[in-house]
Amino acid sequence: MANTPYPQSYYAASANAVTPRPVLQGEVETDVCVIGAGYTGLSSALFLLEHGFRVTVLEAAKVGFGASGRNGGQIVNSYSRDIDVIERSVGPKQAQLLGQMAFEGGKIIRERVAKYQIQCDLKDGGVFAALNSKHMAHLESQKRLWERYGHTQLELLDERRIREVVACENYVGGLLDMSGGHIHPLNLALGEAAAVESLGGTIYEQSAAVRIERGASPVVHTAEGKVRAKFIIVAGNAYLGNLVPELAAKSMPCGTQVITTAPLGDDLANSLLPQDYCVEDCNYLLDYYRLTSDKRLIFGGGVVYGARDPANIEAIIHPKMLKAFPQLKDVKIDYAWTGNFLLTLSRLPQVGRLGDNIYYSQGCSGHGVTYTHLAGKVLAEALRGQAERFDAFADLPHYPFPGGQLLRTPFAAMGAWYYGLRDKLGF
Ligand SMILES: Cc1cc2nc3c(=O)[nH]c(=O)nc-3n(C[C@H](O)[C@H](O)[C@H](O)COP(=O)(O)OP(=O)(O)OC[C@H]3O[C@@H](n4cnc5c(N)ncnc54)[C@H](O)[C@@H]3O)c2cc1C
Repeated sequence: MANTPYPQSYYAASANAVTPRPVLQGEVETDVCVIGAGYTGLSSALFLLEHGFRVTVLEAAKVGFGASGRNGGQIVNSYSRDIDVIERSVGPKQAQLLGQMAFEGGKIIRERVAKYQIQCDLKDGGVFAALNSKHMAHLESQKRLWERYGHTQLELLDERRIREVVACENYVGGLLDMSGGHIHPLNLALGEAAAVESLGGTIYEQSAAVRIERGASPVVHTAEGKVRAKFIIVAGNAYLGNLVPELAAKSMPCGTQVITTAPLGDDLANSLLPQDYCVEDCNYLLDYYRLTSDKRLIFGGGVVYGARDPANIEAIIHPKMLKAFPQLKDVKIDYAWTGNFLLTLSRLPQVGRLGDNIYYSQGCSGHGVTYTHLAGKVLAEALRGQAERFDAFADLPHYPFPGGQLLRTPFAAMGAWYYGLRDKLGF
């Protein structure tokens, strides 16, 4: 059996103790079989265990192997498309529910970290940075919009204030969200996995679900075993492949890349981000960055449609980093890696049920650290028979990518090229 390791990321190199978990062998019976040990799967498992369900998690590789163990670590609230778009495509009651939930994921992360004493370098404060006046007008309207749903902790930053929080000359202003922030993402996943086990849940690693036998009592098959369950939660996201063919047409795996500098030392690090907030800009193809606990800069950006791994990640991301921070021109890059997220056409999460007992949540399209934690709570509510919030997501309309599975990658890349051009021209 293949033993898939973590990618060679800064996170894998600085992970807290990683406990190897067993491979599933033989037959297991459980209440809920969760497929995938990323945040969606682990958050679902934790909420279900806290409500008395028996839970078995199957992970194809290792806990946090996917996006949850590789991401920028930015706790960005809300969704990849915002409530104004949601308001236009769904009714007011559904928009109201989704709007109220938009900042709940960050709260759940903080509750998890506190309750289970997870060591993941949690820091408060995230900034959306405006590169031009159009971005700034957008942030002003987002703030007004979010406030309508009760999220009043946001602060607009003018050009002088943003210079006080980030030493980048390119910004004209920004929006500070103190309920945003950042974490060591793999250590959060590892801590959540340990919490799952502390409540009696079981996690099998190197145990990919290869087939789902549907029916009143569904069975998930792996290479060497099977799990018979009352419910299945599909949480494989961009790494799921074609296990559930119905889901594949309306979403597309995309790669995105991250680099990490050598330690900068306290003075340089503090000069870049004195309050240690994380930052993402307002471009469609956005740059995002933050400091680590050992004062490196983690910088991400760029999208590869169709999730091919680029040959030279540093060559793609390093110039973006230097454009934001020319003062780092002599700093060495220690780590570079790629990871896959799942894009939907609407950029809103793809959530639903297949029959009575298979549930799924995936496709948060780039901003998923908070949403996936919320998804776990909402999935667990649905399995307990309280599906109002789950249905608010499940009723979001989703459409297949133009061109089908064969042509969706070039079509989406063309779309991104167009938006990238708009970013460059400042439209
Ligand atoms: C490089 C990168 C940077 C990002 N930065 C940010 C950020 O800063 N902020 C933010 O909000 N979002 C960010 N995101 C997005 C965010 O990380 C994801 O939305 C989120 O982690 C998705 O979690 P998940 O549990 O749904 O999926 P994943 O974390 O991808 O987990 C899916 C898991 O399922 C497993 N799996 C798949 N198929 C099977 C199977 N058949 N059987 C068993 N297991 C299976 C996989 O091995 C994987 O471990 C980033 C994503 C990437 C890739």
